[in-house]
Amino acid sequence: MTDSDCIFCQIVAGELPATRVAEDERTVAFMDISPATRGHTLVIPRTHVEDLAAIGPEDLAACAHMAQRVAARQREVLGADGVNLLNACGQAAWQTVFHFHIHVIPRYEGDPLRLPWTPAPGDPDEIRAAGEELAG
Ligand code: 5GP
Ligand code: ZN
Repeated sequence: MTDSDCIFCQIVAGELPATRVAEDERTVAFMDISPATRGHTLVIPRTHVEDLAAIGPEDLAACAHMAQRVAARQREVLGADGVNLLNACGQAAWQTVFHFHIHVIPRYEGDPLRLPWTPAPGDPDEIRAAGEELAG
């Protein structure tokens, strides 16, 4: 169910700090530490599962539903003009954390993001502020 070496399992357990924006029985949504744009959020299942190939249909559906909820919040409260959903499955597809996650990336008209982005640590106060807006 959990992998003690997995940083996302540690976030689910509350052992590693993260700005959580929403959660339900199966999923947790929290701010990405190296955001591609303001409000970049990750949606994960509570249960440890490596990737898209391994996740069960109920957890996959729950993550998709949570991603839809977060995307709506990004439009409503952050003023996003659009949203990209992204999943990396496998190293060749840029996966770096091997606990399934969906990137929910708000897009703003004319923003400079080009995918794939080069992750760089964001300003923690600014990430928290965006997360608090999203959490409401
Ligand atoms: P991947 O490259 O596997 O698709 O995405 C992993 C994401 O997790 C990256 O965007 C990275 O910034 C984010 N990430 C890595 N470590 C942490 C962490 O400790 N906390 C949070 N909130 N995000 C993290
Ligand atoms: Zn995990």
